[in-house]
Amino acid sequence: MTAQWFRSVFLVGNPSGAYICPFGDGCTLPLENTTASIYAHLRLHGHVYKHRDRAPCPWPGCRKETRWGNVARHVIERHLRVKSQCMWCGHSYVRSGALAAHMDVCIEAYIKNIFQEYPNITHYEE
Ligand SMILES: [Zn+2]
Ligand SMILES: [Zn+2]
Ligand SMILES: [Zn+2]
Repeated sequence: MTAQWFRSVFLVGNPSGAYICPFGDGCTLPLENTTASIYAHLRLHGHVYKHRDRAPCPWPGCRKETRWGNVARHVIERHLRVKSQCMWCGHSYVRSGALAAHMDVCIEAYIKNIFQEYPNITHYEE
């Protein structure tokens, strides 16, 4: 995982409706805005729980604990289908221009936080 790669995850509004998967380094399968697609990725990346188990959201940097049966919906609502909210810190903006400008800055801070918090899983490259 590199900062460059992480930035590429940030593709809100991609016309194909597919996102780059943030759950595994270099995963090239498109992540679609559907619960089936999300569970398929999570299984692929080793996040295997029973649907009634509670588990932390596997989105990098998100620690929301939820029932595994709800986690795909949480990912869609909180991380993928965000329109007027920063997908990193949740701050909302009315004007999309202001939001885009904020997210450019916010993602940098977000990436640094993740890399500080999990220094052993990866390294920060500029
Ligand atoms: Zn994946
Ligand atoms: Zn989450
Ligand atoms: Zn933000």
